Amino acid sequence: MALLSSYSPWMIDEDFHFGENLREGAEQKVVFITGRVHPGETPSSFVCQGIIDFLVSQHPIARVLREHLVFKIAPMLNPDGVYLGNYRCSLMGFDLNRHWLDPSPWAHPTLHGVKQLIVQMYNDPKTSLEFYIDIHAHSTMMNGFMYGNIFEDEERFQRQAIFPKLLCQNAEDFSYSSTSFNRDAVKAGTGRRFLGGLLDHTSYCYTLEVSFYSYIIGGTTAAVPYTEEACILGRSPPSPGPVFIQLR
Ligand SMILES: [Zn+2]
Repeated sequence: MALLSSYSPWMIDEDFHFGENLREGAEQKVVFITGRVHPGETPSSFVCQGIIDFLVSQHPIARVLREHLVFKIAPMLNPDGVYLGNYRCSLMGFDLNRHWLDPSPWAHPTLHGVKQLIVQMYNDPKTSLEFYIDIHAHSTMMNGFMYGNIFEDEERFQRQAIFPKLLCQNAEDFSYSSTSFNRDAVKAGTGRRFLGGLLDHTSYCYTLEVSFYSYIIGGTTAAVPYTEEACILGRSPPSPGPVFIQLR
């Protein structure tokens, strides 16, 4: 996650060309990313900015990703809460990440709009929503980690675990052991839970958490703070590799 935060180590790709997946009539494979539904979780924005910087860069893996996937990013789901300096709620006092089941266009307009867009894409036979990732920050846990869903279908459940496992193998601050899968009633109104229930078995829905303060690299005991200095590591352009997480 450190690599995906704060800095823009990659040059913007001015030779931007649209991939085959944007050809008229082609099926669009979409990765939908949202951030900052909880306004106090500022690291969510650092990570989201890092993802955007990377995706529009000249890096060969970014080019391949753009060639094959369409990224739709709503970087701030709770702009009024951020503006007001709220920790968790919107202007009207709602925790938006508990209202995915039935968002009101009046009381939760950003959530309502994003949900409508996702449902529209889901119903469009030319669109395949491959991933939904909602970025948060965690105030007590260390490292980056994920929350995923529990499914009766064992194969679907196992397939869902592959992405966080790959992250763990390739990003030193990502922890698979802190990653968990649940269907707690209290989380039923979250984006990850709601969309995990709505979308079919070809879609993967996660909450991506990044610690507010630090991470521990496997095999060591020293905590590395998530500060500007720590993020400088992510400034070195990565060498092209088989998986995007190698970028850090
Ligand atoms: Zn949160």
